[in-house]
Amino acid sequence: MEMTPSSEICSVKVALHIRPLVADERLQGCKDCVSVVPRLPQVQIGTHSFTFDHVYGNGGAESSAMFEQCVAPLVDGLFQGYNATVLAYGQTGSGKTYTMGTGFKDGCQTGLIPQVMDTLFNKIETLKHQTEFQLHVSFIEILKEEVKDLLDSASESKSVVANGHTAKVAAPGKPTIQIREASNGVITLAGSTEVAVSTLQEMAACLEKGSLSRATGSTNMNNQSSRSHAIFTITLEQMRKLHSVSPVNDTPDEDMGEEYFCAKLHLVDLAGSERAKRTGTGGLRLKEGIHINKGLLALGNVISALGDEKKRKEGMHVPYRDSKLTRLLQDSLGGNSKTVMIACISPADINAEETLNTLKYANRAR
Ligand code: ADP
Ligand code: MG
Repeated sequence: MEMTPSSEICSVKVALHIRPLVADERLQGCKDCVSVVPRLPQVQIGTHSFTFDHVYGNGGAESSAMFEQCVAPLVDGLFQGYNATVLAYGQTGSGKTYTMGTGFKDGCQTGLIPQVMDTLFNKIETLKHQTEFQLHVSFIEILKEEVKDLLDSASESKSVVANGHTAKVAAPGKPTIQIREASNGVITLAGSTEVAVSTLQEMAACLEKGSLSRATGSTNMNNQSSRSHAIFTITLEQMRKLHSVSPVNDTPDEDMGEEYFCAKLHLVDLAGSERAKRTGTGGLRLKEGIHINKGLLALGNVISALGDEKKRKEGMHVPYRDSKLTRLLQDSLGGNSKTVMIACISPADINAEETLNTLKYANRAR
C-alpha cells in the first residue's frame, strides 16, 4: 500500500473555479473583470493578483480536470483510511452548488459529487473480491447554528396551503441532532440518519432527496440563495482479510485475521459568503447572516491555523469549537486528513467587491 509522504499530510489545497457570465449578467451588460494569467494558476482583478494551487475556468474539460487533480486523490485516501473534506466557498450565485453537484437540476452530471460516486463504486468493484465494503451516507444542513437532517423522512417539512399561498412548515417534535466527540477523537452526529447504500443508484437517490429538502430562502441577492451549509458525507468501512503467504507455492495459507478501516469524506456546499448587509432584509434574515458568518469565520480561522506549519508544530490551538461547522468537520480537517477548498467566483464586474473578498479568504487558506 502506498504511503502518504509526510509533506502531503495536513495539506490544504485551494483551487479557484471561475464560472462564465450567466445570462442575467450579460443582460445587465456586465463585463468580465477577472483575468487568468496564461499557464499559471494565477488571476488578476484590478490591480490585485492571487495565486492558488489550481485555477479552473468553465467547460466540461475543466470540471473533469478539477475532479482528477483535487478530489480523486481524496477518494483514493478514503480507501487508505484517511478522512477528507471538500469545501465549496463563495458568494451566492458564484457556482458552489453547480461545482459540488449538490443541486439537482444543472450540475448534477458534471458536479464533483456525482464524479466521486462513480469513482468510488468503480474502485469498490475492482477490490470487492478481497475486501468487504460498507457504505453509509448522511446529508445534513447547518442553518443558524442548528443541525438539520436532510434525509429524515419523519422530519420533512410539510407543504401547507393557506390563503392560496403554499408555505413550508417544519414537522413538530423534530429531534435535534447533536455533534459528539468520542474519546478517540471521532466526531459523530447523534440522531442523524445514516443510510446504508450498496449501489450508485441508492447513493444518488440520497443526494437527490436531501437536495430537494434543502432549505432555501429568498434574499435581494438571489431568490435561490442558500444561507445554510449543506454537508453530504460518505462513510466507507472496509474489512480486509489478511493472509500469510506460503513460501513454498505463493498461495495464501494461514488466516492472519482482519484489517478494518473506516474513513469519511465530507462534501460541503457552504453558505453564501456575502456579508449580511448585502441581503438588506434586516430582522430575521440579518440574524441568519450573522450566524452564517460565524461558521465561515471559524472555518477561515481553522484552515489558516492548519496551513501554518510552524504554528502547528508549536501545538497551536486550532479553534474548532467556535462553530457547529468546524466542530462537525474537526476530525476531517487537519491531522491525517486531506482538505480541498474550491473558491467559486463570478467574473462579472458588478460582483467585483465580493469576488475580491472571496479571493482574499481563499488566499488566507493557503
Ligand atoms: P451558488 O450555489 O454559489 O449560489 P449556483 O451553483 O446556484 O451558485 O450557480 C448560480 C448560477 O450560475 C446557476 O444558474 C448555475 O447554473 C450557473 N453556473 C454556475 N457555475 C457554472 C458553470 N461553471 N458553468 C455554467 N453555469 C454555471
Ligand atoms: Mg447554492
